[in-house]
Amino acid sequence: MQINVAQLLRAPIGSVRDYDIKQVIDITGDGVSSLVQGQVRLMRTNRSILVKGTLDTEAELTCSRCLGQFECPLVMKLEEEYYPTTDVITGAPVPVPDEPGLFTIDEHHVLDLTEAVRQYVLLAIPMKPLCKEDCAGLCPYCGHNLNRGLCGCTSQKTDPRWAELSKLKKKGN
Ligand SMILES: [Zn+2]
Ligand SMILES: [Zn+2]
Repeated sequence: MQINVAQLLRAPIGSVRDYDIKQVIDITGDGVSSLVQGQVRLMRTNRSILVKGTLDTEAELTCSRCLGQFECPLVMKLEEEYYPTTDVITGAPVPVPDEPGLFTIDEHHVLDLTEAVRQYVLLAIPMKPLCKEDCAGLCPYCGHNLNRGLCGCTSQKTDPRWAELSKLKKKGN
């Protein structure tokens, strides 16, 4: 997800360039690659290149209710500033603001979106993912996935083990 911005760095402040993004990246570093696509607009500012755009992708997540795997669509609204480290005209090093996590443009004037996209995707992933809004979850007794229909125990409402106990209790009375 690399864009050469040498020309844009030479352009007047306020100049913009639009790019279509379509790339497969391994977001979580677990070997699973996802297609990330969308559009970004790069704007030359007085000190940086401002990147704005909307990207979407899908992540394979585990449902927090039924534990099933599902493809979760994610939309990221990207907005990041990239600071040049090398002057495009003179080739001299450019001091970069001393802020942690700042994105920079390398000495070959290449702006790499990969790390920002990775961070945005991780933020877009829900804390408690659900395969669908009304996921029925698992039967607490037998572990059956209730999205695939009812199991035997749901109709009884009581745990079969407790049913035996309550019979004994009645006898005792
Ligand atoms: Zn589910
Ligand atoms: Zn059950």
